[in-house]
Amino acid sequence: MNVQTGLRPSPIVATVDFYTDGVQHGFLRLPFSRDDSAWGSVMIPLTVVNNGVGPTALLTGGNHGDEYEGPIALYELARTLKAEDITGRVIIVPAMNYPAFAAGTRTSPIDKGNLNRSFPGRPDGTVTEKIADYFQRELLPLADIVLDFHSGGRTLDFLPFCAAHILPDKMQEAKSFEFVEAFGAPYSMKMLEIDSVGMYDTAAEDMGKTFITTELGGAGTATAKSAAIAKRGINNLLKAAGILEGEVEANKTQWLDMPGNDCFYFADDGGLIELLVDLGDQVQQGMVIARVSPIARTGIEPIEVRAKMDGILTARHVPGLVKPGDCVCVLSVPV
Ligand code: ZN
Repeated sequence: MNVQTGLRPSPIVATVDFYTDGVQHGFLRLPFSRDDSAWGSVMIPLTVVNNGVGPTALLTGGNHGDEYEGPIALYELARTLKAEDITGRVIIVPAMNYPAFAAGTRTSPIDKGNLNRSFPGRPDGTVTEKIADYFQRELLPLADIVLDFHSGGRTLDFLPFCAAHILPDKMQEAKSFEFVEAFGAPYSMKMLEIDSVGMYDTAAEDMGKTFITTELGGAGTATAKSAAIAKRGINNLLKAAGILEGEVEANKTQWLDMPGNDCFYFADDGGLIELLVDLGDQVQQGMVIARVSPIARTGIEPIEVRAKMDGILTARHVPGLVKPGDCVCVLSVPV
């Protein structure tokens, strides 16, 4: 029991040492006893690369299990990064919520936990809460700069952007936006969250860390372009942090802003969705951007979704049918 927090130690054991120089491939081993494996474990793969004194970058993918650019870029980085290439430390966890990633689902098949709504987590909670607690109390405190990869998963698709949040601490915010610029995605976002409680982002930011995230595509896969954006972004971030030598590879980026709740559109009713604009297209206030047609009978007018502001289409629903409450699309405003 920790006297300050009143929390017991995490049950997760790292099979690597975070302070030893060199490259170590190992696991975060989370005890999980179950029908098919008495005294078994969930094994979350990770790589730690250490060389001398310098900043620590914590790089994560698979926070949601059906988002692939981060894992593609991070498994490759873990395979190829050499200790002599860096100054400082790089901690690579390509699939944070490993049970979800292995199942190809957004949330964990073990407990239905959405890792990015589970922070600060609990050492005596569900499997997903235990993972969150380990990042909260063990890994985040080691980090100076944190990059967490996301994309739209199976149900959303995004314009490829790197993002940081509007923060009360303007120094911290400015530093985060510098790293977003350095990442060099085609789009860069000043991000607004609709539901920030329990997010990894918020946990890192509340600790004063420089935190950046991405939405690089979606539809349950990655493309050659979106994976390349992730790989270049990691390189640029490590260079901007002074961990890798060399100049940041400059890339033109369009800054976007999400000025308020008018950015988000949700389905009131279920049905067949028809987007009338594509990702990156300009829309004007009042324009019909999507229609939802009831499917149980013919002859019924579709429900129209109208833009509440001028902007560009930044995210869209992927499956052809929507359910009540689904996110239909998101708009943002070029800055
Ligand atoms: Zn995600």
